[in-house]
Amino acid sequence: MAGPGSHWIGQDEVRELLEVMSSGYLFRYGGLDDPRFKHKVYSLEQEFASRCGVRYALATSSGSAALVCALKAIGIGDGDEVIVPAYTFIASYSSVIFAGGIPVLAEIDDSLSLDPADIERRVGPRTKAVMPVHMLGNPCDLDGIGSVAKKHGLRVIEDACQANGGSYKGRKLGGWGDMGTFSLNIFKTVTAGDGGVVVTDDEELYRTAFGFHDQGHSPLRAGVEVGGRSVLGMNFRMNELTGAVALAQLRKIDRLIAVLREKKKRFKEAISGLEGLKFRTLNDPEGECATICTVIFDGPERAALVSRRLGTTTVDRSGWHVYSNMEHFNRYLKERNLPHGKGAYPRTDSLLSRAINLSVGVVDAGLGAGFGINIDSSPREIELAAARFREACRGS
Ligand SMILES: *Cc1c(COP(=O)(O)O)cnc(C)c1O
Repeated sequence: MAGPGSHWIGQDEVRELLEVMSSGYLFRYGGLDDPRFKHKVYSLEQEFASRCGVRYALATSSGSAALVCALKAIGIGDGDEVIVPAYTFIASYSSVIFAGGIPVLAEIDDSLSLDPADIERRVGPRTKAVMPVHMLGNPCDLDGIGSVAKKHGLRVIEDACQANGGSYKGRKLGGWGDMGTFSLNIFKTVTAGDGGVVVTDDEELYRTAFGFHDQGHSPLRAGVEVGGRSVLGMNFRMNELTGAVALAQLRKIDRLIAVLREKKKRFKEAISGLEGLKFRTLNDPEGECATICTVIFDGPERAALVSRRLGTTTVDRSGWHVYSNMEHFNRYLKERNLPHGKGAYPRTDSLLSRAINLSVGVVDAGLGAGFGINIDSSPREIELAAARFREACRGS
């Protein structure tokens, strides 16, 4: 059990993958006149860019690699500060650190994503960029964040790793910021096991990101290489096997999200109207991926009791995405005398101690989403899960 795409791995993925395997050619670059070269990674990039409504997409080996390439492309280095939410996956922080920058944390709001007003409070002379993270498939307040960014001349990198397929006000996530990043890890909406993508509409940013992902080479290694390499890069390339699976998965994403939205609607309706709890704010209800249904209780004791009854946990106690639960990151912050540990971001702490993530498409105990439904749940199973939730809330 992981992300919804992993439930739908089937004949399409097998066919794409076999095409590559049978050809015997597994590297992402090749000659278009070579019949063995199936250019799956290239096709993935073309389809990804067009879906996001931007000109360029760059496939990478992971979402973390995509973030590092994007951060390097916008010029992060040497102590530049990037504002990130206090509720996110470790990669949002570690990518900034590996790019040479410093992550500056900001509070989240009832959408469980960056609060635009709090970003403004954290802006200082070294702030270069902000990284809105569309947590749990729910778009950030991109209008609010965009206007703060504009006012202070900050670059925007969308971390859309958990929100592939989502949109905000009709435009696909990832296409809003200067750059957007995606992950194809098993816990995301669609998956190739691992993998990532960077998107941008800016040619210069694309060229630089490309260089970082492939030892300084120009896009597709076209033209003269020796003497023309732009930056010192790394190898974050995707191979054709990953590209083949990712392509088949991407072509399912609209259907997948439509099914999740329909199942979430059914589930949500069946558990609404209970007293003392609400659903998290959706900045664009039409655009969310519907992978998770988060409920927020009035008080932490009740949230803890209900979660125990369901055999799950409140979000603050889930291991993976809460700043105060990341021992390695806390060590980094502590060594630099930066705010760290529980209590450093009280509004985030309070929200997460009152929240429970119910699974809809992403079933992941690490997210605190060990209870709920999945993409293949039948109407009957949805009704049963809803009844169990209502029962757990009763008399609590
Ligand atoms: C998954 C994820 C990433 C990147 O993850 P990879 O495992 O490297 O693909 C980055 N940010 C967030 C918010 C994520 O959930």
